[in-house]
Amino acid sequence: MTAAFTTAYISHPDCWKHDPGSYHPERPGRMDAINDRFIASGLFDHLDQYEAPLAKDEDLARVHPDDYIHSIHAAAPTQGTTYLDPDTAMSPGSLKAILRAAGSGILATDLVMEGKVRNAFCSVRPCGHHAESDRAMGFCFFNNIAVAAAYAVEHWGLERVAVIDFDVHHGNGTEEMLSNKPEYLMCSIFQHPFYPGSGTHNPASNMVNVPLPRGSRGDALKKAALEEWLPALRKFQPQMIFISAGFDAHVEDDMAGLAFVEADYAWVTKLLKDLADEICDGRIVSILEGGYSLSALGRSAEAHVRVLAGL
Ligand SMILES: [Zn+2]
Repeated sequence: MTAAFTTAYISHPDCWKHDPGSYHPERPGRMDAINDRFIASGLFDHLDQYEAPLAKDEDLARVHPDDYIHSIHAAAPTQGTTYLDPDTAMSPGSLKAILRAAGSGILATDLVMEGKVRNAFCSVRPCGHHAESDRAMGFCFFNNIAVAAAYAVEHWGLERVAVIDFDVHHGNGTEEMLSNKPEYLMCSIFQHPFYPGSGTHNPASNMVNVPLPRGSRGDALKKAALEEWLPALRKFQPQMIFISAGFDAHVEDDMAGLAFVEADYAWVTKLLKDLADEICDGRIVSILEGGYSLSALGRSAEAHVRVLAGL
C-alpha cells in the first residue's frame, strides 16, 4: 500500500486537557473511548498518525473576526473555569485543546492536498460545528470544520468544497459561515425539533438540511443521503469533501433521540468515500464533532475510519 492510499489519524495529547467540568458530557474520556477502541481493534496499524498543530490566528480569521479570536485567547483562565455560555466552559488546558482541534483540519487538508494520504480523520475535542463566527456555544469555540473548509478554498484555491454533517445536532455555526457562498455546499441531517433549533428556517440555496424526527433510524439517514444529499453533491461536483463526524445520533447516546447504529455510520461513510473516489480523487477530511456514549462513540468512530481506510 503506498502512502497516497493511506488514512491519516490526527490528534494531540492537549485534546485531553480541555476540562469543561466534572459532570460535562463533552469530557476527556471521549478521547480514550476512541483511542482504546482503535488500539484494541488493531486499527491504528493501518493509519498514519500525526499530532495536530496549533491553529494560527490567520487560519481562524478566515471564518472568525479578529476580535472574537482575541476574546477566546483572553478568556482562557489560569485556574478554575470560565463559562462562555451555560454549556461552554474553559479550563486552564482548554485554549491549547481548542487551537489543536482547529489546527487538526489545517494539517489534514495539507496532507490530503499534497497527496501524502488519501483521506484523514481528526480525533480532537472540543467540537466545533455550533461555533458561530463571533459566538461560542454548544461545547464549541472555533468552528473546526469551517476553518478547514475555508483553508481548502482560500489557501489551496479549490473552487467547490462540500461539508457533510451527520451529527445529531444541526451545525448552526457552519451554516452561518457558509450560507450563500458559492464555493461551499453543506449537506446535513439532524434531529428536529432539537438543539440548537436552526436549520429549518429559510436555509440558503447551498444548504441541504434534512431534519429528522425523534426516533429516526438508519433508514431515514439512507433516504436523506440518497434522495437529498447525493443529487446535490453530484450537481455541485465538490473537489474535496469535509465531514462533521458527530456520533451522537447513535441509539445508545442519550444526549438525543435518534437511533443510528455503527453499521449506519459505516454505510454513510462508504457512500461518501465512493463519491469522493469518483469525483475528487478520494479527498476527504473528517473531523470529530459529538458523541457522548463512550462505548458507542468508540465503536462508531472505528466503523467510520475503517471505511475511510478501505478496510
Ligand atoms: Zn451533537
